[in-house]
Amino acid sequence: MENNPWHRAQEQLEKIARQINLPPLLLARLKEPDRIITVSLPVKRDDGTTLQLTGYRSQHNNILGPYKGGLRFHQNVTLDEVKALSFWMTMKCAVINVPFGGGKGGITVNPKELSEKELKTLSKLFANRLTPVIGPTLDVPAPDVNTNPKIMSWMVEEYAKELGSKNQELRIKQNEINAVITGKPVNKGGSLGRTEATGLGGTFALLTALRKLGKKPKDITVAVQGFGNVGYYVAYFLKKAGCKIIAVSDSKEGILVEKGLNPKTTLNCKKEKGFLSGCYCVGSVCDLENGRTIHNKNLLELPVDVLIPAALENVITKENASKIKAKIILEMANGPITEEADKILHEKGITVIPDILANSGGVCVSYFEWYQNMHNEKWMKQEVFDKLKEKMQKATSEVFATQKKHQGTLRDAAYILALERIRKGWRNNK
Ligand code: NAD
Repeated sequence: MENNPWHRAQEQLEKIARQINLPPLLLARLKEPDRIITVSLPVKRDDGTTLQLTGYRSQHNNILGPYKGGLRFHQNVTLDEVKALSFWMTMKCAVINVPFGGGKGGITVNPKELSEKELKTLSKLFANRLTPVIGPTLDVPAPDVNTNPKIMSWMVEEYAKELGSKNQELRIKQNEINAVITGKPVNKGGSLGRTEATGLGGTFALLTALRKLGKKPKDITVAVQGFGNVGYYVAYFLKKAGCKIIAVSDSKEGILVEKGLNPKTTLNCKKEKGFLSGCYCVGSVCDLENGRTIHNKNLLELPVDVLIPAALENVITKENASKIKAKIILEMANGPITEEADKILHEKGITVIPDILANSGGVCVSYFEWYQNMHNEKWMKQEVFDKLKEKMQKATSEVFATQKKHQGTLRDAAYILALERIRKGWRNNK
C-alpha cells in the first residue's frame, strides 16, 4: 500500500483537504484526473516484427492553466504512477505559482532496448495519438525519465504535421506550435537554462531555507544520491555557493570524499573512465584524494547536514528512516520518501524540503520556455536564472510562512499553499 504512489498522493490530498476544509466538490474533482487517455502504440521493429505498446496521458487538473507535465519512457510505467505524477504536477505548478495545471504521461517500455529508428517511430506515433488532446493552451508535455530534447523535437514535428493535415487553413503560428511541448533543443525553440533549471532551482530553495534556519552554506556538508541531470547540477551549484559536497552516487556506486569533492571534475572523470569513482581509484584501490567507494544505501545514512535524494522514488522507507543522520533533506527526486518514513523523519526533527517545492525549478523554466514561444521572445541565460531565483526564493519563503501559520511539516505547508491557490482559482472560474 505505502509504495503505491497514487494511494500516497490521495492520502496527502485528503489529509490537507480536511485540515483546510476544502469544499467537497473541489476535493472530489482533485481526487481523480480530469481525463485519462490510453493509447495503443504498435511499432514495427527493425527486424520486421511488431511491438505492441501502451501509452498514457493523465490530465489531472487545469483549474490554474493548461495541463503540464512530462512524458516518461520506462518499463515500470503504470497508470497509477502516471496518475500520481500528474497530481504532483498540479501541486507543484501551484506552489511555484506558474499558470499551469498538472499532467503526466508515459509509455511502458524500456527505451534502451530500442534502436534510434524504433524510438523515433514510437515517439512520433505517441505524439500523433496525443495530438487531439494536447496543445499550447490545452496540455503541454515535456521530457521526463528517459525522454530528452531530441524526442521532444520529433514530437513537435509530428504534432505540427498532424495539425496541418487536419486544418488546411492552419491559423496557429509556428512559434505557438513550438509551445505545445517544452524541453526542446535550444535551436528548436527550447529555453536557455532549462538543462540546469531543476538543480539550480533546488539550490535556491535550499539556500533560502538555510537562511531561515540561521545556517551558512560554508558550514554545510552535503551527500547527493543520483548523479544525473538533477543530482549533478544541484551538487555543482551548491559547491559554487560554498557548501562541501562529500558524497555522490549513481546506479552503480557511491563515492565518499570527506574533504569535499568537485562535481565538475568528478563528472569529467566519470565520462572519461566510465565510472563515478574514476577520479579516486587506481585499479581496485580507491583512496586517491582520500576518496573511497561506498554503497548507495550507506550514502543515505551518512552524518551530513543535507541529504539530497536525486534519483528515484521510495528510497527512504520505514526500514532506513530511523538511520538517517542528516538534519535537512532536500527532495530533488519525485516522491523519494514514503509516507511512513516521512512520519519517522518528522519525529526525529529532520527538516524535509518537499519535492513539490524543491524540484519545481524544472517546471518553472518550462513555463519560461512556453512563455517565450507564445510571445516570440528569446531570453538570455542570465535572465532565465534571475527569474528562476526570484520564483524559487518567493515560493520557499511562502512555504515557510505557511508552516509557521499552520504548524506541521514543510510538506503539509506546501500542500496547503498549493490547495489554497487552486481553491481561489476554482472559485473564480465557477
Ligand atoms: P537522470 O536520468 O538524468 O539521472 C538519474 C540518476 O540517478 C543517474 O545518475 C542514475 O545513475 C541514478 N540512479 C538510478 N538508480 C539509482 C540508484 N538506485 N541509486 C543511486 N542512483 C541511482 O534523471 P534526472 O532528470 O536527474 O531525474 C532525477 C529525479 O529528479 C527523478 O525522480 C525525476 O523525476 C526528478 N525530477 C527531474 C526533473 C528534471 O528537470 N530533470 C524535474 C523534476 C523532478
